[in-house]
Amino acid sequence: MLITIEEIFDEFEELDPRDQSQFLLELGYDLPRFAPEEQRESDLVHGCQSQVWLTARAADNDSNPVIELRADSDAEVVRGLITVLLASYSGKTASEILRLSIGDVFARLRLNQYISPQRQNGLQGMVDRIREIARRHAPCAAYTDPSPVQVPLRPTAVLLTAAEFDPLDVRRQFPVLNQTLDDGLTPVFLDSGASAQKPQVVIDKEREVEEQYYANAYRGRYRFGARIDEELENARQKIATFISAESPQQIAFTSGATATINAVAFGWGRSHVGEGDEILITEMEHHANFVPWQQLALQQKATLRFIPMTVDGRLDLNRLDEVLTKKTKVLAVCGMSNVLGTVNPVRELAARAHAVGAIIVVDGAQSVPHQVTDVVSDDVDFLIFSGHKLYGPTGVGILYGKTGRLAETEPILFGGHMIDRVYRDHSTWAAPPARFEAGTLPIVQAIGLGAAVDWVSEIDVTWIHEHEQQLLRSATEQLQRIPGLTIFGPSVDHKGAIISFRIDDVHPEDLAIMLDRRAVLTRHGHHCAMPLHELLAVSGTTRASFAAYNTEDDVTALVSAIEYGLDELRRRR
Ligand code: PMP
Repeated sequence: MLITIEEIFDEFEELDPRDQSQFLLELGYDLPRFAPEEQRESDLVHGCQSQVWLTARAADNDSNPVIELRADSDAEVVRGLITVLLASYSGKTASEILRLSIGDVFARLRLNQYISPQRQNGLQGMVDRIREIARRHAPCAAYTDPSPVQVPLRPTAVLLTAAEFDPLDVRRQFPVLNQTLDDGLTPVFLDSGASAQKPQVVIDKEREVEEQYYANAYRGRYRFGARIDEELENARQKIATFISAESPQQIAFTSGATATINAVAFGWGRSHVGEGDEILITEMEHHANFVPWQQLALQQKATLRFIPMTVDGRLDLNRLDEVLTKKTKVLAVCGMSNVLGTVNPVRELAARAHAVGAIIVVDGAQSVPHQVTDVVSDDVDFLIFSGHKLYGPTGVGILYGKTGRLAETEPILFGGHMIDRVYRDHSTWAAPPARFEAGTLPIVQAIGLGAAVDWVSEIDVTWIHEHEQQLLRSATEQLQRIPGLTIFGPSVDHKGAIISFRIDDVHPEDLAIMLDRRAVLTRHGHHCAMPLHELLAVSGTTRASFAAYNTEDDVTALVSAIEYGLDELRRRR
């Protein structure tokens, strides 16, 4: 007679985490073992790191039979987890099995310390197999799936509440902005569109990982490895919540937006876009969301088309039907332009794309840091963004995909961690997100990004948005008063906190150098959007981009530095 689930609950409650781990192993030792001839290939459960065999016996002639389960593994700790599953499911009727929420059992046992995401996949594989057996025997097939195997999370620290949020408080949290430079000036950072600065909590989190428990992820059973896995899964969950994704399994860590767009363009595109098909993008795309689609079109003999733009730099939706047709397989668009600041109507574009059978891929590199993102209401198929523009570290990016879309996407990077089984002549892939996380992850960066998302969430993206829009309005008004200055892009109501401008007789690079003399840090050039600049008929622009830590004083500093720069440049002619 196996131990019951109530007995397991009672034992677990009494033990501290280290002893719980030992208890789980002991449960494993007590589980009856399969004889070698019972370890059949056909009874193997796929998705498990270790070998797991599972068999079921049900009375044939009963319409809702009791199902007896047996299982075994070559790893003792897995045998411990199997004991928990068998105690939960075995000896129950088919309909009882289908009604049981194993996620609740796992949450009550707080099994997170022992379950890496790969192991979670394996467990989910066992649960799926058991439920599949039950479904075959249940009197009625219409049972909804109760919550899947979910890892309970470590609670996160509360940092600030929205009511306490003051722009100066925010600024104080960024060490780089609070220094006195060699020339006695304080930096006025207006290049967050390229990369945002990091608050102290993100720097501290990265340091905590490095100093206290760094190890590789999803590999080690020792305490550092387990802590890293837990921190990474915490970060994954936070990011899922932040963009309103349904599950952390829809979030893959990548090395950045560029790598992620390539992963979608080639991982999804090669098997879904063919000769004669069309890919629709816009002329305002960053090269990262332009060149991969262009190259995919060339490789697949598909056609790359563009949504027409209005003269003020918005997408001309009145003319969308001219280019969005049954031939369109994918619409790839930025949530917000990195040059014009234009905010695109993602929800409407998604609906229009889906109506012709196309998918929508959203480059959220600029939009995610500045406005609320809700992948479910917007109904986007894939969303992509980078950590470093969201107050997080460089070297980490995010791929979100609808579950079905991720499942139909092939990996483009192959190697460790992303596999299910490797045979001599072929391999099979792990379920998403592991499938898209080949090799060693940017571990510290991904955990740091989780801290950045906490920080942004605590302050509240809506607050950040409103604060930045106020700065945008104020800067736009003041810049427009400078003779000869042209701002590119739509009116403030249709854009986010980016201003790209040019002054008649001044080269953007000369101006940027002058601004730097006043420690006003801006970007100049084509901002990785050459086709757009061709359309604007300029070789480059000066760009000021705002973030949560900018203040009205920064706007004043920008305007006065431009006036100073113009005087200097014009005086010397
Ligand atoms: N898309 C947009 C709109 C961007 O602004 C950027 C970065 N400038 C990217 C994609 C590429 O991001 P990353 O360099 O982090 O890959």
